[in-house]
Amino acid sequence: MSSKVPFLEFSNGNKMPAFGLGTYLSKPNEVEEAVKYAIDLGYRSIDTAYVYQNENEVGKAIQVKIQDGTIKREDIFVTTKLWNTFHKEEQVVSACKESLRKLGLDYVDLYLIHSPMAFKEGPELVPVNEAGKVSTVDIDYLETWKGMEECSRQGLARNIGVSNFNSEQITRLLAAATIKPVNNQVELNININQKRLTEFCNSRGITITGYTPLGRPGNPESGDRDIPNFLENPKIIELAKKYGKTSAQIALRFVIQLGAAVIPKSVTRSRIKENFEIFDFELTENEMKILEALETGKRVVLVEKLKDNKYYPFGISF
Ligand code: NAP
Repeated sequence: MSSKVPFLEFSNGNKMPAFGLGTYLSKPNEVEEAVKYAIDLGYRSIDTAYVYQNENEVGKAIQVKIQDGTIKREDIFVTTKLWNTFHKEEQVVSACKESLRKLGLDYVDLYLIHSPMAFKEGPELVPVNEAGKVSTVDIDYLETWKGMEECSRQGLARNIGVSNFNSEQITRLLAAATIKPVNNQVELNININQKRLTEFCNSRGITITGYTPLGRPGNPESGDRDIPNFLENPKIIELAKKYGKTSAQIALRFVIQLGAAVIPKSVTRSRIKENFEIFDFELTENEMKILEALETGKRVVLVEKLKDNKYYPFGISF
């Protein structure tokens, strides 16, 4: 089954499977089983982050699957991310080493700056000031990138990239970078299909990974912003019927055919299996157009409370 998963090719010649398991909100006590099961099924890419607080368990599952002979280290593509409280250049290598220690690995396949916005350093993942606002600091992500390049030079990260960067920020980064970012991980689903940003990044040698590909159904955070649950859209249900698939599988296939990598999260065995079964059918060009026309522009991840930040990425620029 894993052989059917396409690869994205990076500008440095390395490759990344275009399909992987997401782990945001996967609790430590459930994520280990989920990752082991996914690897058994043929998943060969796992997405985690320092801030998800599950790198230990993700790493443990990978170790078990290496030890029992299911995979070798080089068969699995592991992505983790630098958290916002570690944006000073001199913090980056040690933050990366801390993630590696938790994962029990001596390198990650992809290390991403989680967000262009920096938070005050300290023990709190999301530090808050007396006024109840997130304590941000003015650290330019170009400074942070120098630390990312050092992670690459030291062999701690085979590839480096960014997440939640808009086109303007990508342009600025490319002008300054010695080692170019190979990937930008952004929200990408039926509601926000990122066609412009994908084209923009791809033409500059940067691949796209699409997060929240299912629109994080049932997520209470998005409920009050009235984000349409596209899994219930009649047009998607109709396509699902046509192909003998579920709405979720149509939504994931859509991302793959847009040329991005997709990383659906699940800790439920039946869904982990269901989400992987999207490589035995193809949406037609016309069907892709129908799905593209369902775009509403509504993101699940908007972090509105940070909209005044100098580096807030979800403003006017795409
Ligand atoms: P998502 O993958 O769109 O949705 C996950 C939710 O959908 C979970 O509640 C899951 O439930 C449910 N689900 C999974 N498969 C399903 C199916 N076949 N049918 C119906 N429901 C299904 O959302 P996400 O977790 O936000 O995004 C995916 C991954 O992208 C994350 O886990 C994370 O790794 C990454 N991400 C990155 C960023 C970033 O800033 N870079 C931001 C957000 C996400 P169960 O688990 O209970 O099965």
